[in-house]
Amino acid sequence: MVMGSLAQETEVAIIGGGPGGYVAAIRAADLGKEVTLIDERERLGGVCLTEGCIPSKALINAVDLINSAQAAKRFGISFGEAQIDLDKLRNWTGSVVNVLTKGIDGLLKRRGVEVIKGRARFTGPNELAIEGADVSAIRFQHGIIATGSRISELPAARDLPVWSSADALALPEIPERLLVVGGGYIGLELGLVYAGLGSRITMVEFFPNLLMGADQDLVSIVVKNCEKRFASIMVESKVVGLEKSSAGFVAQVEHNNETTKLEFDRVLVAVGRKPNTDNLDLDQAGITPNDQGRIEVTPEGRTSVPHIFAIGDVAPGPMLAHKASREAKVAAEVIAEHHSEFDNRAIPAVVFTDPEIAWTGLTEREAEEQGRNVNIGRFPLAALGRARTLGRTDGLVKIISDPDSGLVLGVGMVGPHVSELIAEGTLALEMGATLEDLMVTIHPHPTLSEAIMEAAEVAAGAAVHINPPGK
Ligand code: FAD
Repeated sequence: MVMGSLAQETEVAIIGGGPGGYVAAIRAADLGKEVTLIDERERLGGVCLTEGCIPSKALINAVDLINSAQAAKRFGISFGEAQIDLDKLRNWTGSVVNVLTKGIDGLLKRRGVEVIKGRARFTGPNELAIEGADVSAIRFQHGIIATGSRISELPAARDLPVWSSADALALPEIPERLLVVGGGYIGLELGLVYAGLGSRITMVEFFPNLLMGADQDLVSIVVKNCEKRFASIMVESKVVGLEKSSAGFVAQVEHNNETTKLEFDRVLVAVGRKPNTDNLDLDQAGITPNDQGRIEVTPEGRTSVPHIFAIGDVAPGPMLAHKASREAKVAAEVIAEHHSEFDNRAIPAVVFTDPEIAWTGLTEREAEEQGRNVNIGRFPLAALGRARTLGRTDGLVKIISDPDSGLVLGVGMVGPHVSELIAEGTLALEMGATLEDLMVTIHPHPTLSEAIMEAAEVAAGAAVHINPPGK
């Protein structure tokens, strides 16, 4: 067959096979739609599976083992120094990704979703041109744009062989001195991975705090740990120049109007991501992205052209896989003429640092910005039996509630495994739970989940395991 010679028709065309696109494809097919999924990558799963959530968490788990083994000295258990076989580690994270991406292939195949590997762009409101595939054009009744986002470049590093997060996750080597530009969640997670593998990390962040978007009450506990693990953390600082040197790179870092030259073996740039909306000829479909390059949508996920939907990182909101997947289900259901809306009260956010940070719903900072009167209950993990048994008391849970009704408005956590615990907070928000609901729910003992009940008790002035105020 001649490449790019076929035109075909489909009910639903989905561009992008990440946690937005492939989930929409599965749901739409299950609801009886004929679906074509187009992605230019070799493997499905998008950024999340191939160079994001999954490989990063596999590596973080591996490094956690090194840290836990070192921490076990306190319990009287010693291991020798960790021997790192980079090839095996790389193969292991690769195998995790392979199994999952093959799983997606199977799920789509069994549902009869046609997958086209190629690059799509709009040629009209009901038409796509495809490059690099046998099928050259697709006419569709409904379209879903799920093209995700890509790494933002650092102007000072343009054309230099610096690492992106994807490069760092491919584990090319363990550099002795690694500069991490950007103290957001990706910079922090990968900085901690390489610190655990033995690199000396210097982190440079433009803003006054790391993880600017998150509640600093929670972040400060992680920063304390990073201060021990990293060689240096420079906030309110900017990489204004970068050059190749014989050893690696020389970076010029500006802080307080003074510029310092520092030498590194490798540089990892993690300064944010931008939506993939500029590669689609959206104007041909009649869609104009907003100033941030994102595509505005209705609660049903419809763009300004009602039969075309946008989900995931291209749509406004946090760039997170679970937000993409929820929007995907809504879009597929609306297309199948079911009543569905993205009416979620909260999108949980997790940062897989050590310890982990997670929050959902209203944060203390947002309440302050909105001038909203809230009741905050804080429970330190130091007062929790399970945290003591784990030897991990560096954390807290806080619950933000309405002072009159006791309605839970937000939950924030820092500590071990809070990535798992935050789901309870999100469920509480979705169910319209009050402090009392959390307090009277029996939480198993001894578990970290008890900290949620305890924080609710603190907020309600009924704390059992910490002293009442003034005593
Ligand atoms: P993507 O996953 O970006 O998928 C879009 C797909 O569309 C890609 O495969 C792309 O190749 C394809 N595409 C783009 N343009 C075209 C075109 N014109 N034609 C054909 N195909 C096209 N999120 C979390 O929730 N939890 C985490 O722990 C987490 N960790 C992360 C760690 C890192 C290092 C990174 C980089 C991201 C992480 N994220 C995490 C974010 C998460 O990966 C994204 O939010 C998620 O992948 C967005 O899903 P999506 O479906 O919108 O797009």
